Amino acid sequence: MGLLSTVISCSGPQQHIDLLIVNGKVYNGTDAEPSEVAIGLKDDKIVFVGDKSENITAQKTIDASGLIVSPGFIDPHTHADRDLNKPEIAHNLPFLMQGITTTIVGNDGNSFYPLSKYKQLYAEQGIGTNVVPLLGHHEIIKAVLGRSDKRPSPSEIEKMQQLVQKEMEAGAFGMSTGLYYAPGSYSQTNEVVALAKVVAQNGGVYDTHLRDEGSSNVGLVNAVKEAIEIGQQAKLPIHISHIKCLGVDVWHKSDSIIKLVESARAKGLEVTANQYPYDASATSLNAAVSPRWAESGGKDSLLIRAKDPKIKKKVFTETKKNITKRGGPDKLLIVKCDDNRFLGKTLLEASKTLEIPPEEAVYPILETGYVRVASFNMNPYDIENFMKQDWVVTGSDGNTGHPRKYGSFPRKYHKYVKQDGVMDLATFINGSTSKTAKIFRIPNRGEIKEGYFADIIIFNPNTFKDKADYSDAFQFSEGLEYSIINGKVSVEKGEFTKNLNGRVLEK
Ligand SMILES: [Zn+2]
Repeated sequence: MGLLSTVISCSGPQQHIDLLIVNGKVYNGTDAEPSEVAIGLKDDKIVFVGDKSENITAQKTIDASGLIVSPGFIDPHTHADRDLNKPEIAHNLPFLMQGITTTIVGNDGNSFYPLSKYKQLYAEQGIGTNVVPLLGHHEIIKAVLGRSDKRPSPSEIEKMQQLVQKEMEAGAFGMSTGLYYAPGSYSQTNEVVALAKVVAQNGGVYDTHLRDEGSSNVGLVNAVKEAIEIGQQAKLPIHISHIKCLGVDVWHKSDSIIKLVESARAKGLEVTANQYPYDASATSLNAAVSPRWAESGGKDSLLIRAKDPKIKKKVFTETKKNITKRGGPDKLLIVKCDDNRFLGKTLLEASKTLEIPPEEAVYPILETGYVRVASFNMNPYDIENFMKQDWVVTGSDGNTGHPRKYGSFPRKYHKYVKQDGVMDLATFINGSTSKTAKIFRIPNRGEIKEGYFADIIIFNPNTFKDKADYSDAFQFSEGLEYSIINGKVSVEKGEFTKNLNGRVLEK
């Protein structure tokens, strides 16, 4: 191979490129083994992968001796869109420093709407990573039905379908749902199918936060069945976001979930999932523990019901049940709250401060504003069981207050590849790059291959590691030496170059 390519290139013309990466251990995103090829970039593309020939001259050469070269990571589930429209943090550094070059946004049913407006904003203002936009189911519901739990009429369904069509035409890669959350939770399966069919006609993907990840309503198993049924009926690929067994009631159910997914896949259905490598989930305090019916009309209505002498007892009783399902008030850590009396405390500690039971304390805490909790509710058995499946890819669900926003990909490498040996390095890289690109139909990304877009990262295998934890969730990961996005250098020798090289990607 070496001799042959040298001979060929000697007879070929001189090639001038922008950037050459040499001497690295190259994982190309699909193969099981690395190779020691050189990689040449010109403009925004990879133009050369092979043995370096003397006929190549490059403006700049990166010597990657002792380092790992990989396609840039693609993160299938983020809430980065909450940062990207703020110019001062549009660099997307928490993700960028993990080696992520493309963030999928608009997950859990929530997207910035309408998409056309945000695409224009990102283009004008610049963004630090690429963006793959999804359309959020909640936005469509809110536009037609508001936040109430009323059922849509046939003409309202049609109206929603038209809005879905419009967003798909504007460039959405698919639709996300958050059927656990209001108002998505009020939607019945057939109503979701009606909208998913429009997504399918446009070649899109269905990404879902399941109706139930534990034992809150229909139960985890039924929620997975519902997702598969939506895929079957609407005829589109199903992607389950942040797959998990949430709460003691469903611990060790990963085996049955895996069987369900495997049998759907055997029938030809495309069912995949993403997962973040942490044993705590994170969500708003009300979504975690308040009964969904009490939220009809929005959070203000919830707070009114929690004070209503006729209703509050029922609200508290159900809140208490939900707290128990999540492992108890000592397993809920308040990670975002404007009131410093509660921030950094468990719900149990906060309730002691207020001198009322935890299920009642939830409501005065919610009155201080938007409150998020880390909820310690997962079991290592299920985490590793899901992680080993070849249809499960890495995701962060990166959201403010949880360390996963800053550490997911390096943590998976450091803990699950290096320390615990749950998977090898190539499996981790392939499941963080090309597989994700295929699931979301992202063209020409996720591999180191001639003709592909030049999204490449270089990290130090000895130091690549997450630093964020629950006590300080805002620490950048370390060990990333280079990040190249669309052929331009975004991180050089571990430092952000301050160039915003991201784009909103096209289908
Ligand atoms: Zn979610």
